Amino acid sequence: MPMNRLTDIPSVGKAVEKDLRALGATSAKDILDIAPRAYEDRRTERRLSDADAENPVIYCRIEVTGKSFFPSRNGRTLRVECTDENGDRLSLLCFSRDYLDKMLPIGSLWYITAKVQRFKGVYSTASFEIKRNPAELLLGAIIPIYPLCGNLKQNQMRHIVRAVLDGFSPIPDELPADMYDRNGLLHHDRAYHLLHFPKETEDVENARRTLAFTELFMLELGISRKKTPQKETRSMMTEKEKALVASLPFNLTADQLKVLDEIRADLDSSRPMTRLLQGDVGSGKTLVAWISALHEISKGGQVAFMAPTELLARQHADGAAELMGRMGIRICFLTGEVKNRHRTLLEQALENGDADLAIGTHALFSGKIRFKNLRYVIIDEQHRFGVGQRDALKQKGRNPHILMMSATPIPRTLALTYYADQEISTIRTMPAGRIPVRTYLVSEKKRGDMFRAIDVEFKRSHQAYFVYPRIEEDGDSDLRPVTKMFEELKTIYPGVPSAMIHSRLDEDEKTRILDDFKHGRIKYLVSTSVVEVGIDVPQATCMVIEHSERFGLAALHQLRGRVGRSTLPSYCFLVFSDNLTEEGKERLGVMRMTTDGFLIAEKDLAIRGPGDITGIRQSGFMKLKHASLVTDQELIGLAKAEADRIASEDRGLLKAENAVLRKPEKEGK
Ligand code: ADP
Ligand code: MG
Repeated sequence: MPMNRLTDIPSVGKAVEKDLRALGATSAKDILDIAPRAYEDRRTERRLSDADAENPVIYCRIEVTGKSFFPSRNGRTLRVECTDENGDRLSLLCFSRDYLDKMLPIGSLWYITAKVQRFKGVYSTASFEIKRNPAELLLGAIIPIYPLCGNLKQNQMRHIVRAVLDGFSPIPDELPADMYDRNGLLHHDRAYHLLHFPKETEDVENARRTLAFTELFMLELGISRKKTPQKETRSMMTEKEKALVASLPFNLTADQLKVLDEIRADLDSSRPMTRLLQGDVGSGKTLVAWISALHEISKGGQVAFMAPTELLARQHADGAAELMGRMGIRICFLTGEVKNRHRTLLEQALENGDADLAIGTHALFSGKIRFKNLRYVIIDEQHRFGVGQRDALKQKGRNPHILMMSATPIPRTLALTYYADQEISTIRTMPAGRIPVRTYLVSEKKRGDMFRAIDVEFKRSHQAYFVYPRIEEDGDSDLRPVTKMFEELKTIYPGVPSAMIHSRLDEDEKTRILDDFKHGRIKYLVSTSVVEVGIDVPQATCMVIEHSERFGLAALHQLRGRVGRSTLPSYCFLVFSDNLTEEGKERLGVMRMTTDGFLIAEKDLAIRGPGDITGIRQSGFMKLKHASLVTDQELIGLAKAEADRIASEDRGLLKAENAVLRKPEKEGK
């Protein structure tokens, strides 16, 4: 009988099906991918004297030597006395198992598995299984322990897995034949059998390695096959782009030139681009955005640039006007705050094609706005926007090219699963001449020294940020809030002009404060992490983050990126609490060790796992069953190499030896 649905498996009815679904299985074959969470080695006997606190489980032969009853809550309970082959004694406490009285006559021999307790030299157990035949207890084997759900039991799960293994036997290969030997893999039938019922301890890892490889390979193959083949002819910069580049007081970095090449090639191809541009804060992404925008504008298209906040949008509009205003590029700044007649004029300009470049917030994509010929959409700090907002803006043009920029560097392996449907461009190197920010970890005791050091910076006309996790005091926490620290800092730095900034201020107020800060009228800002994104003030050389263990690594990295934006030496002070955890210590250690955002992201991934990385919603994630994106780096490399080879040799999977790879494509979810 063919086995497709879960209920096709013998002994699986509706109730069990529900539990199996909760474990992630939707078809019978999926059961095989439920990997045991642990194994118990029952190959060698464990007698009573082998039991200890760490492993209190025994499997051995026993002889029944006596019986008695003792009083218990529901009347009386049977106690069976027995001895193992060493002569050590064990009491079986048979709660609600009176039938054992008949079953276990004195002098009979049995095999037992039990979790035993030792009290005053006497072993006892209330949790045991007892059988005549050792095979029934899986003695002599390594047995799988499964993750369970609902009412499922280990034994039942083992039977289900057995039935599925038998039902599909022999399980066909899932990879081209020559790939197995080359990568040291087991064939799939063997891998699945050994994953569930290993003969030797090493079998488990060998089996898992094969299944993990398969999973990673399929992922990589999907990506490699989707990639546009490298174009032979390079797209050239237009005159306008060249003029802009020539007007810069510096040279573009090699990475900026490389990603500009990648983007231009896409902009000039017939397929709409979906590309993520990732690069650390200050790596020069915005400039890449403007130059590539000019490419599209030169061809007569309109470009929209969307920033997550009013403030950033304004900053970008100023920057764009400075760079491109003189070249005759017609820039339009549009946010929710732009109203009435002025707004109507801007809307008309976009609709008539009298504006080339629209810079704003998501207001750009509100219902009323129409573009004459929107060809290219750039989204800054893309993780700040929901998928819905990104989709809404696609509607404004006919399949416009999309560039999403992110200063949250994502390890390649994560990008693989999360951004599987888009191309990625990366700026890794920073513009020359930047001095890395010096980072100090400051204990509560040393805060005074820190405040004095910053005073010296103020005397040099440099500026500072002070960041706190909360705006206001909160009853049961001893976190210093922004409001209180604003007052306290005034007494530490009398006469130094300062301001408080947080999410509850209205946009006008924020803009005014940041403008004052930018022009040095305010020397320091006391804030929550709202300063995290995009503010650019070169004279600011100090970043203080109190309760720094409260912030994620990505956030700390972003915050630190606010300083070190000129050739002045800059400092980041991470103040930590006295009761810092080991994990907290490790994370702050990473911050001190490096300023490389990609390295920080890799470490964050290793310390906390993928679920927690800022800017990545769990929902978008592909769940891997056997592979780990953190520890399977070697396999990822192997899988990628094989996938790239196949994508270049046989993109359509037409060759006979690649036929096995066609099926999963068709069945795709
Ligand atoms: P990002 O958007 O990646 O955070 P920006 O584009 O805002 O970075 O760049 C930060 C600063 O570095 C800006 O003042 C910009 O003019 C400058 N910059 C950009 N590219 C270079 C370069 N190649 N060399 C020197 N400075 C650069
Ligand atoms: Mg930026």
